[in-house]
Amino acid sequence: MSGFATHLECSRCREDFPVDQVNQVCKSDGGPLLVRYDLRRVRDSSMRDALKERPETLWRYRELLPYEDPARTVTLGEPMTPLDDAPRLGRKLGIRGFAIKDEGLLPTGTFKARGAAIGVTRAADLGIKVLALPTAGNAGAAWAAYGARAGLRVVVVMPDATPAVIVRETSAYGAETYLVPGSIADAGRAVRDACARYGWYEASTLREPYRIEGKKTMGFELAEQLGWRVPDVIVYPTGGGVGLIGMWKGFDELRAIGWIGPKVPRFVAVQAEGCAPIVKAFVDGRDESEPWPDPRTFAAGIRVPKALGDFIVLRALRESRGTAVAVSEDAIAGAMRMAGEAEGFLLCPEGAAAVAGVAKLRRDGWIADDDEVVVFNTGTGLKYGESLQGRTARHLSPGDVPSERKPDA
Ligand SMILES: *Cc1c(COP(=O)(O)O)cnc(C)c1O
Repeated sequence: MSGFATHLECSRCREDFPVDQVNQVCKSDGGPLLVRYDLRRVRDSSMRDALKERPETLWRYRELLPYEDPARTVTLGEPMTPLDDAPRLGRKLGIRGFAIKDEGLLPTGTFKARGAAIGVTRAADLGIKVLALPTAGNAGAAWAAYGARAGLRVVVVMPDATPAVIVRETSAYGAETYLVPGSIADAGRAVRDACARYGWYEASTLREPYRIEGKKTMGFELAEQLGWRVPDVIVYPTGGGVGLIGMWKGFDELRAIGWIGPKVPRFVAVQAEGCAPIVKAFVDGRDESEPWPDPRTFAAGIRVPKALGDFIVLRALRESRGTAVAVSEDAIAGAMRMAGEAEGFLLCPEGAAAVAGVAKLRRDGWIADDDEVVVFNTGTGLKYGESLQGRTARHLSPGDVPSERKPDA
């Protein structure tokens, strides 16, 4: 390993596995594996000073990333994403310090690029030639793009209700793309069976230990952009929960090397009312979620009926004194419109769900007006053409001119 990764550790029983071999889940209990690092070496390294000189991409955190050879990392030029103050939106929500971290600017238009950059780099390191994954859509597109970049064969299975652009995008990167009726859970069964039959590498969420390492860089960037500290509240649209688990893990690592203080941000998981297994488990005081029977929401990325890492998400929510909240489809659409008109942000429906979650928690008083709140907009609205808000454009006949008066809102 070029970085300081030492081993993989089961998130349930803490058993260790070698990081330089193909290991997918714990051989004893099936728990997701997490990459562990020699944090003492990282602490004693010159990484903090070196950051000043390094390009603004996720690879700047290389000591805390797993890969073998810096010359063979798979990259499409992942920029550090902006952390934008959103004062007008904040005023509408009744929050003074409100900011959006805009992941829509990454390759493939979502934060899934972070996971795919590291995941595909590791797959290539490990000599994998064919990888298959089930997806709610955006992970498939990202792994297809990075797979093409690495010259791997990629097979993607996604629900037939996935937004059309995302399906076409995945095919456009050359991935063999399949649609199934139902949800990502149904796609997962098709992939699992194919991998068992053909010996393909199964790159499903948390059956693949590396994408989470890419996603944790959202937390590294946020802490760095705030001057190596964390906000009071982080609001995250939660499907598989990998982004949230990744940030939770990333902040643990930053605390262990002494770069941020002991403060822990309150994590909020936002889901749609039509698919809210983690919210239900949180409210019911359970350690794991039950599969959601008929998952429905136009926020496709959070249409995940049962997350493999649900127990880690629930632990992170409780230990951070956070919460989980479900929002309606109308509230999601309303937040998309509000963010577009108030700030010029074209949020994806998932990011808009997070904003709608903030509105709800502010009304309840769970978020105070002086809390510093950061919402993750996990992707660009451009991938969801069917769902964009705003007034319908009007046709002008030849010779007509636009109206002098602003139409009623
Ligand atoms: C995948 C996805 C999510 C959910 O992310 P998890 O980290 O798996 O919970 C949210 N938003 C978008 C746009 C996504 O593609």
